[in-house]
Amino acid sequence: MDKPSVEKIVIVGGGTAGWLAAASISKLLGDNLQVTLIESDEIGTIGVGEATIPTMLVLHHLLKINEQEFMSAVNGSFKLGISFENWRALNEKYIHSFGLTGKGCWAAGFHHFWLKGKKLGLSDDFGNYCTELMAAKSDRFAISVDNEKLNYAYHFDAGLYAKFMRKIAEESNVKRIQGKIINVTTDETTGFISTLDLQSGEQIQGDLFIDCSGFAGLIIEKALNTKFDDWSEWLPCNRAVAVQTASTSEPAPYTRAIARDAGWQWKIPLQSRVGNGLVYCSRYISDTEAESLLLSKVDGSLLTKPRLIKFRTGQRKLHWNKNCIALGLAAGFVEPLESTSIHMVQKGIIRLLQMFPREGIKAADRNEFNYQMREEFLFIRDFIVLHYHLTERTDTSFWNHCRSMAIPETLRHRLDLFRESGRIFQKDRDLFAENSWAQVMLGQGLMPAHYHPIVNMMTDADLSSFLKDIEGRATRRVTQLPKHKQFIDRYCKAIV
Ligand SMILES: Cc1cc2nc3c(=O)[nH]c(=O)nc-3n(C[C@H](O)[C@H](O)[C@H](O)COP(=O)(O)OP(=O)(O)OC[C@H]3O[C@@H](n4cnc5c(N)ncnc54)[C@H](O)[C@@H]3O)c2cc1C
Repeated sequence: MDKPSVEKIVIVGGGTAGWLAAASISKLLGDNLQVTLIESDEIGTIGVGEATIPTMLVLHHLLKINEQEFMSAVNGSFKLGISFENWRALNEKYIHSFGLTGKGCWAAGFHHFWLKGKKLGLSDDFGNYCTELMAAKSDRFAISVDNEKLNYAYHFDAGLYAKFMRKIAEESNVKRIQGKIINVTTDETTGFISTLDLQSGEQIQGDLFIDCSGFAGLIIEKALNTKFDDWSEWLPCNRAVAVQTASTSEPAPYTRAIARDAGWQWKIPLQSRVGNGLVYCSRYISDTEAESLLLSKVDGSLLTKPRLIKFRTGQRKLHWNKNCIALGLAAGFVEPLESTSIHMVQKGIIRLLQMFPREGIKAADRNEFNYQMREEFLFIRDFIVLHYHLTERTDTSFWNHCRSMAIPETLRHRLDLFRESGRIFQKDRDLFAENSWAQVMLGQGLMPAHYHPIVNMMTDADLSSFLKDIEGRATRRVTQLPKHKQFIDRYCKAIV
């Protein structure tokens, strides 16, 4: 059933999802809306989620955020990609960078040219043809080089990020209520959420509720019983232990994802500290073992106590149910390997703004929103499963399981296509472009049997100079860049 016009928006939760939603809705659409955010100091936020992908810059641009001020305020560093270490095999590594590798043509991506070069002994490492990747490897960074912007994202302190967004939201008249929600009432006829009861006795009413309550899923699940598609069959990790440490070296312009015996470890370098964590599967390692392993693998003194986080991978069956839209961890979680969660929060926000139900909540809007969110989550799921499944590791039960497990049919098809012919097609709503799939599939050791015949239109000599030119250009551009730390000090030194 349709609901009359939407004026009062209630956001439940003040983590990254809640404050980002509050800032965006109020600043971009808010003049005629009343936006209230409820958060509980007693419950707190998850406190992780510090690596992002380049799409973050799009929403920041819409919000007219000054990058220098922002980066200073959040202890930020720049990110050019992720270094995957020990994933394919122990002591092997590759970088999945945000830059474009080489140059393809209308019929075939660059990796086809590179493959032929490799067969002829003309190609260097695939990454050598990408400026961002080479810059990451040599710890160099600038916003642009040769008047071309690099493709980059941010690392930041999650607590400071929420604070930064809160300031924008409150300046745009978002009302904040601190308190714990203890009861959610739904309308008997429509099933729509009508009132939230706070522990203080206060009652909050709204037209549209945005559930950003984290894994609790207070409204979308506990009140509306939306149900969850569980992906633990393909993504077996279900826990993380996180700790912050003091920096012992200059921040690298990339995240490190280091595969361990039963999961993987992250290292996210900020200006003055490092965010660390171990994501693991509790079937293969106990919480105590995981914590000891993490502590034995971090550098620098501990700034926080290790914190255990339990999670389940998957997504809600509906992201928008009745008059509730779930964002952030309340909507789903594909695990943090490719830093996609905050991106999905942003996608949900932008989609909501595009389909804003000012004149009433309509089933068609809801269906479209759910279809688009679900699709996008599924593509990300496949991309993450790829990293686990395409491994040559046989040294632990966890990796044996990942290597031999059944995978989603959609991913199986992509792998077959690439293995047989090197072909990759980016689908609508697939976050990861051809080049990302190529970097990770090659990085994980999947070599196509053939390259596209269009490559044979080039003579071997032309192919050789084509490859040399691209590699030479990337190398030359990187030498023009300052060291990452030097750039940060000049551009956006943290306000301590
Ligand atoms: C181990 C791990 C690593 C991650 N790493 C990354 C990463 O590198 N990059 C990335 O993009 N994402 C990452 N994520 C995901 C990221 O942390 C989240 O997407 C992001 O922080 C948003 O969280 P949230 O706001 O949905 O939830 P939370 O931060 O948990 O906030 C929930 C809010 O709801 C409030 N709340 C809950 N119940 C009530 C109640 N009853 N009454 C009132 N208020 C209530 C809480 O007080 C809090 O304010 C990671 C997640 C995990 C688990």
